[in-house]
Amino acid sequence: MSAKPSLLDFSGYVFDLDGTLYLGPNLIEGVGPMLARLRALEKKIRFLSNNPLQTRFTYAAKLRSLGVEAHEAEVMNSSAVATQYLLERFPGAKLYVVGEAPLIGELVEAGFQVVDGSAECDLVLLSFDRDFHYVKLHQAMAAARRGVPLIATNPDVACPVPGGVIPDCGAIIAAVEACSGKKVEAIVGKPSEIMLRVILRDLGLPPDRVLLVGDRLETDMEMGRRAGMSSALVLTGVTTEAEARAWPHPPTFILASASEIGN
Ligand SMILES: [Mg+2]
Repeated sequence: MSAKPSLLDFSGYVFDLDGTLYLGPNLIEGVGPMLARLRALEKKIRFLSNNPLQTRFTYAAKLRSLGVEAHEAEVMNSSAVATQYLLERFPGAKLYVVGEAPLIGELVEAGFQVVDGSAECDLVLLSFDRDFHYVKLHQAMAAARRGVPLIATNPDVACPVPGGVIPDCGAIIAAVEACSGKKVEAIVGKPSEIMLRVILRDLGLPPDRVLLVGDRLETDMEMGRRAGMSSALVLTGVTTEAEARAWPHPPTFILASASEIGN
């Protein structure tokens, strides 16, 4: 599009969750009516998160508990995208997974065999794992050193939690890369274009018909730009207006809140 589009011009809307639609347990003011307006206009909606610890079902349930219509199929997180990516690129692979139960459950449900030791695996999938320990590091290292590809769900080194941050998948990637001397081949979560490719196919829309809405420049906005989408940065999360304006590729829109989309 040459002229700047208006906020309701798009056919599809992809929303980051934390910092964009809600802050921890609270829905951001005006977000409920905004989403209802988009539904009334028959826009397609997707909800997006890098966090692989919860299932699509859990995210949809959380949104509904906040009074927002949301369906499991509209949620895309890095574990759902990793599963789609592996189905496409490594169908039938035997997986050694450093990750938690919801991710493993999703992979098994999709038909993958998840093995306990890495000696038999064809691929190592690294993810956010709050039970990461020496044996898992050793297993991942051994497989990587014999040439098994490493794939990871998300690059975040830390995850915000009430009262601070905890180590996330990026820290586990760093540990495995350090001891194996191998590099992760693909990280499917934001800002990778893999995540948006899966979402665009799911939406059935070309990138210029979709608006990406999020609160982080280096993940949300960067991913939208790489995919050729218009982007809206919201100031309800981690980014200030000054940071957004100073960014080398400024977002298409800078909004005080996602609720402005429905105005
Ligand atoms: Mg966010």
